[in-house]
Amino acid sequence: MQSQCPSCGNPIVYRSELSAYVVCPACQTLVARKNMELVAVGKVAALQADGSLIKLGTQGTFEGKSFQVVGRIQMILGRAEKPDAVWYEWYALFSNGAGGWLGEHLGEYFVSFVRPAEGAPTVSQVQLGQMLGLDKQRAVVTSLSRGTALTFEGELPFVMDTSYEAVFADLSTTTGVAGTLDYSDDSPLLFQGRWCRFEELKLQGLRTGDEEQEGGPTLSAANLKTLKCATCGAPHELKAGGLSQTLVCQYCDTAMDLNSDVTFREVLNFQQSMGKVPAKVPLGSQGKLPGQEAPFTCIGFLGRACVVDGIRYKWSEYLLYEATQGYQWLTETNGHWTLLRPLHKVPVNSQGMPTGHPPNSQVSLDGKTFKHFQTTYATVDYVAGEFYWRVRAGEGAQVVDYVCPPQVLSADCSQEELNWSAGQYLSGAQVWKAFGLKGQPPEARGVANNQPNPYYAASSRRWLTYLLFVMASFLYLLLRTVIGPKPVFSQQWSYLDYQQDRAQIANVTVPPGRHNLYISVRANSLEQRWGYFLISLIDEKNQQARDTAVNLYHERGSDSDGPWSEATLDAGAHLSGVTGGEYLLRVEPQSNITGRSDPEGAGSPNASPRTVFSYTVLVQEDLPQWGYFWMLVMLGLLPPLYSLWRASSFETSRWSESDHAPGSDE
Ligand SMILES: [Zn+2]
Ligand SMILES: [Zn+2]
Repeated sequence: MQSQCPSCGNPIVYRSELSAYVVCPACQTLVARKNMELVAVGKVAALQADGSLIKLGTQGTFEGKSFQVVGRIQMILGRAEKPDAVWYEWYALFSNGAGGWLGEHLGEYFVSFVRPAEGAPTVSQVQLGQMLGLDKQRAVVTSLSRGTALTFEGELPFVMDTSYEAVFADLSTTTGVAGTLDYSDDSPLLFQGRWCRFEELKLQGLRTGDEEQEGGPTLSAANLKTLKCATCGAPHELKAGGLSQTLVCQYCDTAMDLNSDVTFREVLNFQQSMGKVPAKVPLGSQGKLPGQEAPFTCIGFLGRACVVDGIRYKWSEYLLYEATQGYQWLTETNGHWTLLRPLHKVPVNSQGMPTGHPPNSQVSLDGKTFKHFQTTYATVDYVAGEFYWRVRAGEGAQVVDYVCPPQVLSADCSQEELNWSAGQYLSGAQVWKAFGLKGQPPEARGVANNQPNPYYAASSRRWLTYLLFVMASFLYLLLRTVIGPKPVFSQQWSYLDYQQDRAQIANVTVPPGRHNLYISVRANSLEQRWGYFLISLIDEKNQQARDTAVNLYHERGSDSDGPWSEATLDAGAHLSGVTGGEYLLRVEPQSNITGRSDPEGAGSPNASPRTVFSYTVLVQEDLPQWGYFWMLVMLGLLPPLYSLWRASSFETSRWSESDHAPGSDE
């Protein structure tokens, strides 16, 4: 569709029937379509240079649908003469004919579509932390901001009153679905969608670095690449272009408003009274930390502090920037480092609802439980570098930390915002390596709130070793018991009613190695007798003897309960640590025999000796010794128990710094 500009006659092309407004690219006249006629509404303000990578005509895809950017609204947060941040909403036509919005805020992208805002609170009712419905789920209000539309470009389905400061309420869910309630009109508009990564949108036709930015009076420093400090003249290279609102000279502490020529002395005065804080990662350093998709540049540095029980705790925060990834924070406390990135959803609270105002207990995210660690009021002690907001030394916010080492969830709470970020523990060595810094990183002192417990790993390893050892030993012993002992020697002898020398001698070969032997004696019957067997195992090499004895008996009687009998007809003795070789086994039995005691007795001179009883001597090898096993089971517990104790001491030190330390108010 093509028409002519009612103001200058320049041809105007419409890409969409949905576009009720279009800005004439030749004369910047806002043109409205009314009953197929074009009506000039008035001139729009010139576009402000803002450093965006996107421009009219940029194409991309979202959830399988392609889109093309056809218009935009340029917004500022805060008042026009003193903006806090720039923000743009690009209007995009999708392949299915729908019109959608691509919000660009601090290098992050929010794709949304206008939905009916049924049941939305009025502007006077809406509150920070309030629970609302969004896309059939629960959402909380995580930000209330005031913004003004500055100007428009291209085709748009509606325009806003540029003289009016509107209220915007951002809604977050636990799933990533997000929304913005726009109170620029009497009835609120709901923009529903989700945050996307730059790569995900597969944007094409982006503004290249060489391309001229749109002119107009400089709202921001987008056109500036370098800037001289207004006080000391030091040159500064601006890294985040149009997104930066403030630059604090690290040499003379002068704070410059990048939207105007104003320098503010409050930072200088504050920092002179507090003293300079050195940045360990120098401004301008570039590095790719574990978990980052691209190298980030360190553009800002904050020295922060909080006071707990009268003690001042200090830490450092480094603002990292990358053009397509936006902003991340690197924090350092006592040599412990954490990389924090913005979280575009809220954790689940203990009621299973999205977390509004951060509770003092625990929250969960992606199935992990994070325990509340500390709630503090953190102030800014020192600032240097570039920032995307109007930074002020001495400004403060409530910070609530939850830990699930090595991760941490942090909520920054102010009157207007409940900002969540998710962090990952890093060692000084990882940071030094990523940024290519010289020397050694500062030594890590104490235990950090999200530092992984090194003793848990050691303890788990030791428990595993112990369990494997116990199981292997048990199975081995069990197998030996089931298979049964290996016989080394077995011999049956008779105990005769008369005999010159009752001792029996036999050769025994013990296989090579060291063995525990079990020597047992089994008698066939002992009719009211006892048998005592003196056993010697004599090493043929050195004639050394190992002695032991076995006792057997049989008794029979009768009492008021009737006849009874008691017997031990099989018993044995252990001989431990017998080395392999040739041995003589000497068995000398004794018993209380009755009847004939000599060959000449009981009348018959030719009577031959009679067997009183016969007995079998059995020598077996390596019988499992369960006593040793149980001793090893007990002693083997010591190393893993020690590790567990170390791990638990580590946790005690960690939590002694928290709000939940023993003896604190919690
Ligand atoms: Zn025109
Ligand atoms: Zn300076």
